[in-house]
Amino acid sequence: MSQQCVDPIVGKILAGWRYDISGLAAEMRGDYESHFVECEHCRGRQRIHRMIDVGLIALASVSGFVFLLAFGVIRHFGPRHAFWLEIAALAGFALSALIWLVVAVATPAPVTMMDAAREGAKRVHDRLPQEIRERLPEELRVKITGT
Ligand SMILES: [Zn+2]
Repeated sequence: MSQQCVDPIVGKILAGWRYDISGLAAEMRGDYESHFVECEHCRGRQRIHRMIDVGLIALASVSGFVFLLAFGVIRHFGPRHAFWLEIAALAGFALSALIWLVVAVATPAPVTMMDAAREGAKRVHDRLPQEIRERLPEELRVKITGT
């Protein structure tokens, strides 16, 4: 992370986009992609931002789940003031769902997670014995390996 950006002007533009170029048209993307190849600094930043995105999604999922669980528990035990507790739990859940949605729409987190999932599936696939690999449906194999 100690490296300097090799082209601060491009680096600044990328920083403004949170190092996300997935929304750019393919013909515009080329210059920035080559900057990522050349620039260690921006590559590191991009990795951090994508980790933050995925972390936020994970956090929102966990908190949404906890609020739902709380709602269930309140429903089940019916303590005093149950109504307001239920409202609070539902509001917490709604807020978590909203954050989840905003992060999923505004950042490339879904793409990052799909890539990670595909990478994981490919690693498993590569370790499978040959005869099992051959029995996998063609369509699935193409999806995993991309060939
Ligand atoms: Zn850079």
